[in-house]
Amino acid sequence: MTEKIGFIGLGLMGSRMAAQLIGADNDVVLYNRSPGKAAMLAKAGASVANTPLELGRQARLVFMMLTGPGAIDAVIWGEQGLIGAGTSCQVVVNMSTVPPAYNRELADRLLAKGVVLLEAPVSGSTDAAEDGSMVILTGGDAARLKEVAPYLGAMGKKLVHCGEVGRATSMKMVINLLLGVMLSGLGEAVTLGEKCGFTSAEVLDTVLAGPLGCGFFQAKAEMLKKGEYPAGFPVKHMLKDLKFIGTTADGALAKAPLAGAVRDLYEKAMALGLADQDFAAVKKVFED
Ligand code: NAP
Repeated sequence: MTEKIGFIGLGLMGSRMAAQLIGADNDVVLYNRSPGKAAMLAKAGASVANTPLELGRQARLVFMMLTGPGAIDAVIWGEQGLIGAGTSCQVVVNMSTVPPAYNRELADRLLAKGVVLLEAPVSGSTDAAEDGSMVILTGGDAARLKEVAPYLGAMGKKLVHCGEVGRATSMKMVINLLLGVMLSGLGEAVTLGEKCGFTSAEVLDTVLAGPLGCGFFQAKAEMLKKGEYPAGFPVKHMLKDLKFIGTTADGALAKAPLAGAVRDLYEKAMALGLADQDFAAVKKVFED
């Protein structure tokens, strides 16, 4: 593909996703608030912009993988923001996890500036971002999504079109609610097993040998056995998403009592100083 594309946000996920785009022979210009994170990718052949606006002046199509609404607002509307004077940006693909209502409002604000918003939140953590095996949920204009599908296909193994803007992020809320509930449940169960005199390895090997041996639990088992939680998806981001899930449930008039209970657990995990550890570290709340 010959068009220069922009990618903003080179954190745990974005750095790996941008690497996939670069590896697929795309001409990519990068921006990250902390400039050091772009250096490795620049060596792989990307160019680096000093501000979002500098990037917007080079790229019509811009992908974003940022923490959430505050970061996105800063990048788009802040000083030297993406949509400033002389920008070429016409399409923004927001891959960050945000509340559906935020993306709907952002779509309206951008459209008033002649820019189309597409949403493409992802299912899968750093390992899936690294090998391009994420499932990507898409929302927005179908024709525009078709145009960006080859780029999304370089980052994920499966694209699921959910409908208009807001619906892909709604689906993402569904997935992350289940992630939070499942991992808290595993942490509580393993801790109960330990209190009953088993090692965490004995509990996990037994539980995962049966019908509960799903890929997600398998992926987290080693952390729970070792009691070490290097961040794939950090506690602070799970808590962020549980807040979004709460407002989404309220907006949809859905009862989500487990979302509230799990949110309390993650608040406690934050208070234990676990913000930057993987969200499997919620087990420490049960041990405490
Ligand atoms: P991360 O490592 O914390 O990276 C966050 C990115 O946002 C960084 O590039 C950071 O820049 C940037 N940022 C934050 N605040 C900013 C601001 N005010 N202005 C400009 N840039 C700002 O997060 P991540 O794990 O890559 O996650 C990114 C998104 O993907 C989140 O919405 C998350 O919920 C979602 N997600 C994560 C996972 C996962 O497993 N990690 C999986 C699926 C979805 P700096 O480098 O300067 O801090």
